[in-house]
Amino acid sequence: MSDTTNPVRDTVILGSGCAGLTAAIYAARSNLKPLVLEGHEPGGQLSITTLVENFPGWPEGVQGPELIENMKKQATRFGAELRMAHLSAVDLTTSPFTLTLGKDIVHTRSLIIASGASARWLGLPSEQALIGFGVSSCATCDGFFASGKEIAVIGGGDSAMEEALFLTRFATKVTIINRSENFRASKIMLERAIAHPQIEFLHNTLVEECLGVEEKDLKGLKLFDRKSGARWTLPVSFMFLGIGHTPNASAFKGQIDLDTDDYIKTEDNVFVTLMGERLPGIYACGDVQDRRYRQAITAAGSGCMAALEVEKFLEEHGR
Ligand SMILES: Cc1cc2nc3c(=O)[nH]c(=O)nc-3n(C[C@H](O)[C@H](O)[C@H](O)COP(=O)(O)OP(=O)(O)OC[C@H]3O[C@@H](n4cnc5c(N)ncnc54)[C@H](O)[C@@H]3O)c2cc1C
Repeated sequence: MSDTTNPVRDTVILGSGCAGLTAAIYAARSNLKPLVLEGHEPGGQLSITTLVENFPGWPEGVQGPELIENMKKQATRFGAELRMAHLSAVDLTTSPFTLTLGKDIVHTRSLIIASGASARWLGLPSEQALIGFGVSSCATCDGFFASGKEIAVIGGGDSAMEEALFLTRFATKVTIINRSENFRASKIMLERAIAHPQIEFLHNTLVEECLGVEEKDLKGLKLFDRKSGARWTLPVSFMFLGIGHTPNASAFKGQIDLDTDDYIKTEDNVFVTLMGERLPGIYACGDVQDRRYRQAITAAGSGCMAALEVEKFLEEHGR
């Protein structure tokens, strides 16, 4: 079934997080009537967090969902169309590009990919219930809230070591919980973490449950020692996941350049390439192309850049 009401769109934005919604505000204000596909997580990662204290313009901080809701209102006010739809397949070989959204097909002259990168979680129901209430996947974002507290970092790679070292600025004690005997972290990062007086290690240890769901406040972690079979509780008030992110770019594999971890490769921030050649009309912004900063403000910034490039591209092509 094709989208008969609007056969060829000027621009489609994949994702309704900070990057996608900022792109939508700019594109809508340029009268491009962008279609925003909301995907499996409408509002993106900020919609599952609580207080955001580092987004400029909110001196007292703002709740993540409120910030997103305001961005949506701002985008729709200028004519952006938000649709609850998930991209299942894409054909970028011919222009206009073809996007498959389940049973629907949408054609578009330009595309902004703002599909984010999903943090990897342990997958425990208690962990999911406590996201924003002591459980976090973003040390840069939430480290400050761990001030003066004893906390845990999950993982054994470089991201876990980096997070743990960063968090020693706030927490009184950081326990790194690694499920195996060995660490994937580089020697230098591991040595730094081992040498730090505030960091302790637990090897061969699994988190079985996050405690405090009823109180909506993390109280501790129920742990299982895989070697001895012992179970005990570690009293911590924060748990940070340091087990990596998965960029939501699988639909594009083979059609655009991805790096070894499947982040979209971009040139000059937002230009998407195939075998090193820029693909006209296709741009990526936000966490799906940013393994380094992964912040709301940087995602929003690159969303703005992508929309401005779309505007330029369409103008150059007579739209
Ligand atoms: C718990 C937590 C707390 C955080 N706190 C802060 C903070 O305090 N300050 C800060 O600056 N940053 C914070 N961050 C990071 C911030 O949320 C991200 O950097 C930002 O959301 C990235 O925006 P994005 O638009 O690139 O991607 P996302 O927010 O991940 O949005 C991606 C969008 O793409 C959609 N999508 C994905 N695949 C498809 C598909 N196939 N079809 C259609 N749509 C699709 C999703 O549904 C979603 O709407 C936090 C992150 C987390 C997880």
